[in-house]
Amino acid sequence: MITGDASYIKKINRSLIIKEIVKEGMISRADLSKAVALTRATISVQVADLLEEELLVETHLEHNAVGRKPIMLSLNAGAGYALGIDLDYGQISFAISDLLGRPISTNTVKLETTDYSEILALLIQHITDYKEKYINSRYGIVGIVIAVHGLVSNEEMIHYVPRLGWNDVHLKEDLEKALGYEIHLENNSNLSAFAERVYVHHDTDNLLSTTFHSGIGLGMIINNKFFRGHNGYAGEIGHMIVVPGGRPCNCGNKGCWEKYASESNIMTCLSEKKGLYPITYKQIQEWVNEEDEEVAEIMDQFIYYLSIGLNNMINIYNPDVIVVDSELLRIYPDSINKIKQNLNSQISHYRELSISTLGRNSSILGACALAIQNFLDVPVLNLPNEIDNHE
Ligand SMILES: [Zn+2]
Repeated sequence: MITGDASYIKKINRSLIIKEIVKEGMISRADLSKAVALTRATISVQVADLLEEELLVETHLEHNAVGRKPIMLSLNAGAGYALGIDLDYGQISFAISDLLGRPISTNTVKLETTDYSEILALLIQHITDYKEKYINSRYGIVGIVIAVHGLVSNEEMIHYVPRLGWNDVHLKEDLEKALGYEIHLENNSNLSAFAERVYVHHDTDNLLSTTFHSGIGLGMIINNKFFRGHNGYAGEIGHMIVVPGGRPCNCGNKGCWEKYASESNIMTCLSEKKGLYPITYKQIQEWVNEEDEEVAEIMDQFIYYLSIGLNNMINIYNPDVIVVDSELLRIYPDSINKIKQNLNSQISHYRELSISTLGRNSSILGACALAIQNFLDVPVLNLPNEIDNHE
C-alpha cells in the first residue's frame, strides 16, 4: 500500500525525472540516476511507469566507444499536443506544439469585431476543432492557454483589455462551461517572459522581458515564478512616468514611458519627420543603411528613453537577465551597446541584456510551453530552442 507520504515522494521523483529527461533530450538510466540523485531501482520503477503511460520512449543507440548499446530515454514528444492561443486586437492566432514545445501548425484568424460573444463563439468553435483533430494521439490536446493583451487577475478573470474595450469578462468560465474542460488565461507579456525563460535562457530563474510594440509590456519571472502583484496586474510598465508633465496618455497621466519608447510612437515620429504615412520597417532599414541623420537622431532619442525605463526597472528588480523585444532595435546597428552606454549607474546591477530571438511569437510559444509545464507537472521546464522565427 502506498501511504500519503510515499505517493507524494513518488510524485516529486516523477517530476524530477521528467524535468531532467526534457532538459537533456536523451539520457540513459544510469546518467539519469546520477543527475537526479535517485537510486537505480527507483529510476527503474518510475521509468517503467512512464514507458507504460507512453510519455517516454526508448532508443537503442547503434554504437558507443566500449561497444555496448546503451538504451536512451527521451520524452515521447508526439504523445500529446499543446494549444496556445494569442487573442490580439484584430486577430486571433492558434499554435499547436508537440510536448517539446516545437510548433506543428499555426493559424491566424482575422477579427472583424471586438464583440465579446462573437469572439467567445469563435474561440469555442476553433478549440473544438483542434480537440477533434488531435483526438487520436495518446493524450490529445493536453492543455489550452490563451494569451490576453490586458489585465488578467490572479483568478484568471479578464479585468480590462484596452483595445478590445472589454471590462470584467469571465472568458475562462464561459469557455469551460461551453467546452467542459480546463482553459487557462495569462497576460501576454507574462507568457513572452515565460517563453524567453523556457526556450532561450535556461541558465536563469530571474528574468524580465520587455516588449516595445504598440505599447510597452513587461513580464517578470522571479525565482522561476510569475511575479503578478497583489491582484495579478503587475508589470504595467508602459505607464511609468519618465517625463513629468510630458505627453498626455490615454491612461489619464502625462509623460508615460510608452509615449516615448514604444515602437508605434517612434514610427509616428519618423512618419511626421519624413512626411510618409504609413512607414515600414523596410523603409527604416533603408534609411539606417544610408546613415540618414534625421532617422539616427530619432532612433538615438528612442534608445535614450528606452534606457531610462530599463534603468528604473533594473534598480527595482536587480534582474539576472533582461530581454528586450523590438524590431527597431534589431534594425538599428549596435543598439544593445548603445543602451548599455546609457546604463551608467554604479548602483544598477544585471548580468545580461539581450534582444529577443523569439520576437512577436514569444507569447504564443509561451502559451504552448505553459500548457506543457502544467501537463507534465514539472517545476521547471527547459525546452530545446529550435526556434528562430522572428519577423
Ligand atoms: Zn499612461
